[in-house]
Amino acid sequence: MTPSSAEIQNFIASFEERLAPAEKASSEAWWRLATTGTEEAKDELVWAGMAYNQLFADREEYELVKGWYEGRHALESSILRRQVEILYETFAGRQGDEETLRRVEELEAEANAIYGNHRGLVGGKEASENELRQILRASDDSTLRREAWEASKSVGRKVEGVVRELARLRNELARAEGYENHYVRSLVLQEIDVADLARIMDDLEIATNAPFRSFKQELDAGLRERFEVEAVMPWHYSDPFFQSCKHDALALPRSASRRDSGGALGADDSSLMPGSNSEANAAVGLDVDRYFGDKDLEALTRKTYDNLGLEVRDVLAKSDLYERAGKDQHAFCLRVGRSYPYDVRVLANIRPDSYWMDTMLHEFGHAVYDKHIDPNLPYLLRTVAHTSSTEAIALMMGSLANDPAWISAVTQVPEGELQRDRERLLWSSRADKLVFTRWASVMYRFEKAFYENPDREDLTGLWWDLAEEIQLVDRPPEREEPDWAAKIHIAIAPVYYHNYVLGHLTAAQLRNYLEKHVVGGPFFMSELAGRYLLEAIFGSGARDDWQTTVERATGERLHPDYFVESLG
Ligand SMILES: [Zn+2]
Repeated sequence: MTPSSAEIQNFIASFEERLAPAEKASSEAWWRLATTGTEEAKDELVWAGMAYNQLFADREEYELVKGWYEGRHALESSILRRQVEILYETFAGRQGDEETLRRVEELEAEANAIYGNHRGLVGGKEASENELRQILRASDDSTLRREAWEASKSVGRKVEGVVRELARLRNELARAEGYENHYVRSLVLQEIDVADLARIMDDLEIATNAPFRSFKQELDAGLRERFEVEAVMPWHYSDPFFQSCKHDALALPRSASRRDSGGALGADDSSLMPGSNSEANAAVGLDVDRYFGDKDLEALTRKTYDNLGLEVRDVLAKSDLYERAGKDQHAFCLRVGRSYPYDVRVLANIRPDSYWMDTMLHEFGHAVYDKHIDPNLPYLLRTVAHTSSTEAIALMMGSLANDPAWISAVTQVPEGELQRDRERLLWSSRADKLVFTRWASVMYRFEKAFYENPDREDLTGLWWDLAEEIQLVDRPPEREEPDWAAKIHIAIAPVYYHNYVLGHLTAAQLRNYLEKHVVGGPFFMSELAGRYLLEAIFGSGARDDWQTTVERATGERLHPDYFVESLG
């Protein structure tokens, strides 16, 4: 039966009246908890979350929406069709037996609490995640590094059972709705074709095989020298999962290192940076932090977006940007409600270093997208096209913090100093993308197999097989710990990692298009580029799906070639 447009429109109009306040209340509660950390705020968030989920609990309404969704191709209005798709996906993600849904929520909270409260032991003393990371960034003592690395994984054993149970229950919910498993259901509801994604991930793996192998050989040679060891083990990398190489000592081509008058490690630079750990900076080889040590990151963020003609002063005014007791230690961008003028805020904990410069540009990338969505769109479409689309803008903007051309244009670092670092800056940002891509492949392949059978006994074996094959990281002899469960995403942000990968690919394709076809030079100095982003991406909100959005903005469907090119 063809659904009547008027019937659908009426339903959406009345549903919006319930949805809008619930959504706003839940964002407000989220912000309050993140900025205060009080028990009251925690309760308020739980309450708001329950009220929000309750909106989708009526099975009859769901069946109605599902029927419209299945008949959506007969709808004449593409705007209405798109609203039906989004409405259906929002409903569908929250369906299931009440008892199972409640159990999943409880287990997620339990897992969250375990990750939050667990402390690994180093030298018999509890160590925070930051302390463990600091050891892996700075220490030359292999024994201590091994202890810190093992401590960073010790949460796995504690949380493993909960993570497996969560996967079983998520699969139950997915199968009750006719899907093969939770992995497949999640992708479908995110409008990602399972086979498409598999092809992209395979292409990326093949394209990065050779450059990664050669980078890895160089890195390992440097690490063997630094630690005076025969074999490089997982604890010799600065990141516990080897998902980034920003802090790996000697992770730089020797030819570039020799250029540095301060010696191969550039240890002299560290003294220039106030408030930093000089040992850690000595190990970095390239101290990008020193560019920002005396800078006002808020002002640099404003200037960067001014250059694009995108106003962020209103967002800055509503944001909470500096460290404070009780405050969330991470960073995010949040839009509260969907009424115009939009209320967009960023939470950060700025310190004058490269990490926070990247993070500020990243979060304000999300913010300019959010605040430029056409307010005339219907409520359900007044949002970003896709997680990967907003990640793409954020990643493209954040990466400027390591881009010598941007540093030179915006920060007034002396040209001579920058000239000396130029090659290494470019090299290290490429290396980092390469390392991240291989790691994302491990996550992708592991999670896919995990949801095919969360009860398989050889998960630890599978995890290490993938690390050995894809990241070229050796499994420590006789290691039988559930190291996969130490990665928090597997427990509480499942089937999400591919959005980072798609975001990177989109960012590379978009930047290439902007610089070759729109601006004819660096996009970040051009108001034309800002206007293009606004018109080709931000303005249309969720009017089109992500594939169509990429194609409209870049003239091509998403493919990995530009990203792969940027690694070479
Ligand atoms: Zn982001």
